[in-house]
Amino acid sequence: MPVAHTLEGPLSVDVLGRQDPELAEILLGELERQSTTLQLIAAENFTSPAVLAALGSPLANKYAEGYPGARHHGGCEIVDVAERIAVERAKALFGADHANVQSHSGSSAVLAAYAALLRPGDTVLAMGLPHGGHLTHGSPANFSGRWFDFVGYGVDPESGLIDHEQVRTLARTHRPKAIVCGSISYPRHIDYAAFREVADEVGAYLIADAAHPIGLVAGGAAPSPVPYADVVCATTHKVLRGPRGGMLLCGSELAERVDRAVFPFTQGGAQMHTIAAKAVAFGEAATPAFTAYAHQVVANARVLAQGLATEGLAVTTGGTDTHLLTVDPAPLGVDGRTARGRLAAAGMVLDTCALPHPDVRGLRLGTAALTTQGMGEAETARIAVLFATALRDESAGRGVREEVRDLTGRFPPYPAH
Ligand SMILES: *Cc1c(COP(=O)(O)O)cnc(C)c1O
Repeated sequence: MPVAHTLEGPLSVDVLGRQDPELAEILLGELERQSTTLQLIAAENFTSPAVLAALGSPLANKYAEGYPGARHHGGCEIVDVAERIAVERAKALFGADHANVQSHSGSSAVLAAYAALLRPGDTVLAMGLPHGGHLTHGSPANFSGRWFDFVGYGVDPESGLIDHEQVRTLARTHRPKAIVCGSISYPRHIDYAAFREVADEVGAYLIADAAHPIGLVAGGAAPSPVPYADVVCATTHKVLRGPRGGMLLCGSELAERVDRAVFPFTQGGAQMHTIAAKAVAFGEAATPAFTAYAHQVVANARVLAQGLATEGLAVTTGGTDTHLLTVDPAPLGVDGRTARGRLAAAGMVLDTCALPHPDVRGLRLGTAALTTQGMGEAETARIAVLFATALRDESAGRGVREEVRDLTGRFPPYPAH
């Protein structure tokens, strides 16, 4: 189709600078922060300029309730194509019969999965929050905890690994309508076949909340939940490196229920700019470069885990299979909260998290973002040393901050061209 408009000129960031310098400065300040500190938050990444372009496009103006070819609004012919492309790319990328790409977030995707399969009051077996379950896995502060009867399984306090015997025992005792597997901080591969076996034994649905590992799945660096789970929920903005958002994958028999659970049950208009950006990200994730990226993310995480262990931190499960790891800094004489503060002062941004030992707050970190910047094993090994240096001695923070500035300067997330 002939297009008379371009995305230069009136749609560039300069426009914001001229109209609203106050906000433009905040955008640039955040870019500066992201570019000069190390983003070790396991759930974060840097989207490509192409993804950002789709997000900042006039598709943001379009109302599009419903699905392609069946919208409640006029003028959807072009955005319909974007959504069809996103759906087809997601299906091909993950080998799924059906994909819904409309969920506004990972939490919305989980809400939709519950809405598709459950009724209020149903029993659900999921990882307990103190062990790494997400808010949507039964937190009393979340819809999940209020509307469903959650039973929590955990990890073995010694090994840090999911206790599949406990999962089976709890499933037999409570006969849940659904079992959820997936976590915000589990560093190892999830054994989806083992969860499927228990779900089949008790007649439960299996919901995989693969918000974290789905990007590794796309790159062939982690096992896929798609062959095992009735419904897979995911985010598109973690390792997968797309825009902030969610998606659902399922077999064709549940396709209609899942679609109706997203719209009209839990959401209104689809965000077409985000859906276009998801399509861009799925396209990127289908390339050999992304496969190499996903494997490098894991290689870097292993180096980081090994390096931190060598420095004396207690690494949960002794290492990682994925992009994330959790550590207890206590052997270095600091608790999780103090550690987060010292690391922030040294230019390393990360989260505290619950650890398998009750009442201990540790640190959760990941390598998705630094790997996108092009850092490899040598840089990651150095980061482990800097990390421990900043933790041990508050006065070393300034020197570490300088080295972090130098490192990030050599690997800019958005190189100026
Ligand atoms: C990140 C995450 C979510 C939620 O994603 P949001 O987009 O923040 O709502 C849900 N479940 C798990 C396991 C997650 O890690």
